[in-house]
Amino acid sequence: LVMPLSSVFRAIGLIQRGTGAYLRIDEVLALPEEPAEQPGDRAPGTRRPPAPALEVSDLHFAYVPGRPVLRGAAFTVPHHGLVALVGRSGAGKSTLFALIARLYDPDDGTIHFDGSPATPLNRRQCRAGIALVDQNTHVLEGTLRENITYAALDATDDDILRVVRLTRLDHVVRRLPGGLDGRLGDHGGTLSAGERQRVALARALLARPRLLLLDEHTSHLDAVNEAALTRALSDVSRECAVLVIAHRLSTVRHADRIVVLEDGRTVACGRHDELLAKSPAYRELATTHVLHSGGPGNGER
Ligand code: ATP
Repeated sequence: LVMPLSSVFRAIGLIQRGTGAYLRIDEVLALPEEPAEQPGDRAPGTRRPPAPALEVSDLHFAYVPGRPVLRGAAFTVPHHGLVALVGRSGAGKSTLFALIARLYDPDDGTIHFDGSPATPLNRRQCRAGIALVDQNTHVLEGTLRENITYAALDATDDDILRVVRLTRLDHVVRRLPGGLDGRLGDHGGTLSAGERQRVALARALLARPRLLLLDEHTSHLDAVNEAALTRALSDVSRECAVLVIAHRLSTVRHADRIVVLEDGRTVACGRHDELLAKSPAYRELATTHVLHSGGPGNGER
């Protein structure tokens, strides 16, 4: 009788301990769930590096299905800095600009502005922070002031003089009879090609964009205009992020980063000297006149 009874008491003890444990487990299970950690979460005290102004990741795009133009473009543009995009004709540079300006949606890959993804639903919002100066530089009959402010009629003289200084147009103001209110002639006929380009740049900068997209013209500039553009871009890149489709050696030499695009892919990234040493694709662009230097005899009016 003693043996079975002690087995019964042992079993009762086990059941009691099991019940206690079950109740404690139940209490833990009933606690509210902690929010899951996100991949980008950091430990307290560690600061997340700021997102770049523009981040293009593994971008793919085709105008016509089956004929890809972009096949894995990837690079970043920091908030204050000049990034030059270079590549042969047809490499996809203008297409990349069109995607960044949200004129098309990529087939694959992502575009982030300040860390936020571009989606088909936020086109307008993304475009609001971007200024695009492309090869179609329009200078109209009218004054310099009108040509700079025609999209921002409420700009003050201070705003206008700020962009005039940034784009090195001060000497045009001094040269024109009437200064800012001097007339530029038919289609800006009194300006050189480089000055017309910088008027378009000044107009774009009046909106204080976060990202400036500039397509340098393939046309040659004289040495004075080339130097003025280089200095203007360097100044502008201290105020906002600048991505420029570069055709000039002077621009790439001063760029903080150069992105080499070949057949729609990013094949190299770095500074001029670095790329000359390590990238055959870049060396070829820099030495075969795809990137050209200006000269005193090349002035275009
Ligand atoms: P470039 O330096 O000559 O301006 P790029 O590097 O800017 O050249 P893109 O203009 O982007 O090159 O063109 C890349 C490819 O996409 C080319 O083969 C071009 O023919 C093609 N392409 C460009 N625009 C269109 C379009 N709207 N429809 C179809 N194909 C296009």
